[in-house]
Amino acid sequence: MPDLKLQQFPPSGSVPGSAHQPGHGCSADPEPSPAADPANRTGDGPSVYLETFGCQMNVLDSQLVVSQLRGLGYRFTDDWKSADVVLYNTCSVREQAENKVWSRVGIVGKHKQEHPGVVLGVIGCMAERDGTDMVKRYPQIDLLCGPGELDKVPILIDNAFKTKVVDDEDSRDATRRRPNESKPVLSGKPQTVALQGNTHRRSSTLSAASDKLELIDLSRSFSATDIELPGEHIPGGGRSAYVRITRGCNKLCTYCVVPNTRGAEVHRHPDHIVDECKKLADHGVIEVTLLGQTVNHYHYDHSATQQVDGVWQPQIGTVISPNKGTGGPSPTFNDTTTSFADLLHRIHEEVPAIKRLRFVTSLPRDFGDDILQVIRDSPRICRYLHLPVQSGSNRVLAKMNRGYRAEQYLELIDRAKAMLPGVTLATDVIVGFPGETEDDYQQTRDLLAYCRFKNSFIFKYSPRPGTAAYDRIPDDVPDPIKRERNNDLLALQAEVSAEIHDSFIGQTVEVFVEGVSQKSRKQGGDGGAVQLSGRTDGDLITFFQGDPSLVGQMVQVKVESALPLALSGAIERS
Ligand code: SF4
Repeated sequence: MPDLKLQQFPPSGSVPGSAHQPGHGCSADPEPSPAADPANRTGDGPSVYLETFGCQMNVLDSQLVVSQLRGLGYRFTDDWKSADVVLYNTCSVREQAENKVWSRVGIVGKHKQEHPGVVLGVIGCMAERDGTDMVKRYPQIDLLCGPGELDKVPILIDNAFKTKVVDDEDSRDATRRRPNESKPVLSGKPQTVALQGNTHRRSSTLSAASDKLELIDLSRSFSATDIELPGEHIPGGGRSAYVRITRGCNKLCTYCVVPNTRGAEVHRHPDHIVDECKKLADHGVIEVTLLGQTVNHYHYDHSATQQVDGVWQPQIGTVISPNKGTGGPSPTFNDTTTSFADLLHRIHEEVPAIKRLRFVTSLPRDFGDDILQVIRDSPRICRYLHLPVQSGSNRVLAKMNRGYRAEQYLELIDRAKAMLPGVTLATDVIVGFPGETEDDYQQTRDLLAYCRFKNSFIFKYSPRPGTAAYDRIPDDVPDPIKRERNNDLLALQAEVSAEIHDSFIGQTVEVFVEGVSQKSRKQGGDGGAVQLSGRTDGDLITFFQGDPSLVGQMVQVKVESALPLALSGAIERS
């Protein structure tokens, strides 16, 4: 599993199904097709339904796809049945998320029997991992696009529309040639596909030469209303935004599919990142979350930078020297390198309008004091660290290929608590990894009890296709034992979380108002005060009554009570 948290947009609900659809040709042709050209369709441009599964990186990818398609005249709908194009931006991390996608693909397939003009596309990690095998299983899929090729989505849609026109003509011809056939003959052409294939293709060069994905990031829409997907709840009414600083991952944890689907680590030029933060701030954004699969491994070597067509190119991640958890500076860099600590410092100093700067997700290895010092000295950088540990057993950590020992992780936690008083911590844990004994599990339990995370994302191990563990390590911990350990750890975490939240009762906390709470949304309302929800600097969810106009603002909340995973209080002032 990657180190990023799972989210789903929209939360579920609209479910699109099985059937067959002719195959389609694959080629990049920039000319607009009659079907895709808004001028050739009644009303506005073609309508698109886009649903996102998975981590924050996928959410940002979807926003950038929306940005591209809107610029070409497409409009978005939250009703998949009325859409001309149905896209699923997918995640391969968990089986459950994949099953949801398969179910939707099946339902849309049935819909397509009555509406053959609809284009169905699967983009993101499932597309990259399963590749064209996916369309053998589900021939109703017209379009596949991996996360490293998202700049091609508009052309793929365009080609899918074009191919449908050709297929219709072929089918009519075929029907004429063989009048006894009850159904038109389907062409069986290959679908429109853009996949990286060799996901480490960039690793042989220092620069990800002519990186098209950088152009998508650079051309993102900065208007909150432009980037909000139908049905998607953007925290803070669009005043909170994600900014990608790296893509991909080189770490090859044995349970994780990300290096296979997103490719090798690529770091963006720091000037581009700072500029993006400035533009977002100019458009009212006050909270920025920097994204990377191993965000603290960000580094950019200016002595080796390259420009293509006047654009600084992203740079593949070179091997860095681990600090071995000794607490010294982060991995050794030369004077011309922008490290993650440097980048945080630059954004904090150069974009003061960003009131809260966050980052996810960190790899516990190579988390140096320089990062902690910048957080300590920068009041607008949140004192919240998400540090996935995965296991407290060195034996299991080695099998997972995590690159650190439990003692190093604990030393990092001690350093963080010493340098950042009040810091809140969260983690990810996998129970039942192959070979995990009762003793291994107890070590994980002890680690959780020691660290006192405000919350932990605890998962039972399940082998995922495309990972090293899937191919090489038998899944030998029986499911009842996984379940027992999972429940035991959840119970322990619930106790710790409750104690941490209780300790805030009576304090006043600053909260960024993210929106009307789910409870109030379900209840509806007739104006006036509703229950709002937001987060503290330390990422503690906080509920309070207030006017919806406060969404996107900072308010002071006096904490009156605590739930196991949230605070509850009243506004003191805004
Ligand atoms: S660090 Fe490990 S778990 Fe995180 S994305 Fe990379 S390979 Fe996956």
